[in-house]
Amino acid sequence: MYRFSRKFWFALLALCFTNCIHAAAWNAALHAEKTGFQETGRYEEVERICAALARQYPTWVRCESVGSSSEGRIIRAIVVNRSGVSGNAKRPAGTIRKSPVVLVIGGTHAGEIDGKDAGLILLRELLASKAHDNPLNKLVMVFVPVFNVDGHENRGRFLRPNQNGPLEQGERTTARRINLNRDWMLAQSPEMQSMLALVRRWDPLLTVDLHVTDGLRYRHDVALSMSPMFGIDPDLKHQSEVLQQDVIAQLRRKGHQPLDFYPTLNDPDNPDAGVIQDADAPRFSHVYAVLRNRIGLLVEDYAWNDYKSRIEVCKNTLDAVLRSVASRGQSLLNLTQQADSKSFQLGGRQVALDWRNTLETGPAHASEQVYLQGYQYTLHEDAPVVGGRQVSYDMSQPEVWQVPLFKNIRPSAEAMVSLPQQGYLIPVAWASVVRPYLQLHGLDFKSIKRPLRSVSVETMRVREQDVMLEAQSFQGRQRTYVTGQWKPESVDVLPGALFVPIQQRNSLLAAHLLEPAAPDSLSSWGLFNTAYEISDYIASHRELELARWMYEGHEKIRALYGDVLFHQLPNLKQEFDSRLATDEKFKNDPQARLGYWMAQLPPYDPHLNRYPIFRTHLKIP
Ligand SMILES: [Zn+2]
Repeated sequence: MYRFSRKFWFALLALCFTNCIHAAAWNAALHAEKTGFQETGRYEEVERICAALARQYPTWVRCESVGSSSEGRIIRAIVVNRSGVSGNAKRPAGTIRKSPVVLVIGGTHAGEIDGKDAGLILLRELLASKAHDNPLNKLVMVFVPVFNVDGHENRGRFLRPNQNGPLEQGERTTARRINLNRDWMLAQSPEMQSMLALVRRWDPLLTVDLHVTDGLRYRHDVALSMSPMFGIDPDLKHQSEVLQQDVIAQLRRKGHQPLDFYPTLNDPDNPDAGVIQDADAPRFSHVYAVLRNRIGLLVEDYAWNDYKSRIEVCKNTLDAVLRSVASRGQSLLNLTQQADSKSFQLGGRQVALDWRNTLETGPAHASEQVYLQGYQYTLHEDAPVVGGRQVSYDMSQPEVWQVPLFKNIRPSAEAMVSLPQQGYLIPVAWASVVRPYLQLHGLDFKSIKRPLRSVSVETMRVREQDVMLEAQSFQGRQRTYVTGQWKPESVDVLPGALFVPIQQRNSLLAAHLLEPAAPDSLSSWGLFNTAYEISDYIASHRELELARWMYEGHEKIRALYGDVLFHQLPNLKQEFDSRLATDEKFKNDPQARLGYWMAQLPPYDPHLNRYPIFRTHLKIP
């Protein structure tokens, strides 16, 4: 009989031991559960569970790297697909995926970490469940437990002053102090650049972003909000709202008190003045999804509930969302494909690129009275200790508030835009600025290979007074508001310029990046501000000299500016003299008088105040 050496048996034992550990199912309690929901685990726990689930369910679960944070941590995604994950990651654009993909994001604001623990607990239950109605059978779930991984690890006890637990909380912003839920369009953080790559790869039907409220005292345990009005397809908008209401109904059946909007107090010191529903903007995940003809849902657990209750409602919300998508996923997928097809037809159409609550734009009427589950409160005109106007709540005295709800959201007039028939032309000088954003958002574009002479385009010349710069920076950028009229102009185009066709699946997203009126366009984020900066001037004594020569019909004007202007001088003088005689205001305004003459000269800075992107209504060869 052949005898194995002791060394062999040790090796076999070691191998078995490692494999046994690896093969062990992940069914242990989370750190949050072990501590009675007083604490939440470190990121190491997520890494460990992600790897363990992938080993435990090798055909269903994959532990993916989404990318790296600015401090070099790996952002993980747990991808769950009972039909086998390997075939789903790559597919030709525009084709229908067999299963709807639900992207679930926890820890965007790392201190609001309910989504991580709730999502992991739900996954543990669903993966172990043999129930025939298990929603995981009908969809692909891409779960990012912690998006802001650096914020999650840079934790402290006092980072969420408006929140009841866990003991230590992560930071709201990334290590570079970027708020990820304002970064979906500009994507200046490495975290968001990685997330957009994931979105391009998986094309989620629904994006669910899991947060916790910031401050307001009430008794509703979760708020679910959407902004489907930003989309172009009324059917998809309607069905998005049906999905939201279905989730709300499921939560009510479990005894929760959900809200279908995220309320903001009209007067922060007086709930009686009513609540507002905001329109939000594409920099938020739930609006960004809509610009891609998909669905976005923002979930806000109520911050003053204890961590255990919050995890319960977050888990039930997520479960309800998955069940709702499982039951209507295929029809929703058909609708998104319909919206994708319509996006190819947006050339020349008028679209609303921004929406506002009517309360922001002028006097507004409350759309309805709403009953909010609140608490008794006291309005102080001379508050204790600090004085002044303040509000305080008595948490032992529940009360129902019947208050006005302001939820009339209308297109913003200045952001009603008729899109170009063909697309956008980005001059080569700006191509390197714009190209990275086109790539990040997965937009179609082509590079112009040969020089083009006298191309008919529309340009926007902006008046100095129509450029408004915000005094404070936001996300480290200077926000800029530019308004103006697009007018026909003929331009030469150098090779290397970019053409972004409007005929593409993501035409709405392209318009949001490239139209100056859009709230999160590259222009609104201040990327084109050099276009509006004066960099040269004519000295005042030279202006006086030129004005005098023009007024006197001096030969030097002919020598400097040519015959055309020279021959106009007698008529200009006559018009000038008659204005002096009849217009008292003009006569008494030296700057206006000087301006009259300077306006006759060819511009010395012809591209000043020209928006650097052009629109084309004709085909670019
Ligand atoms: Zn948040």
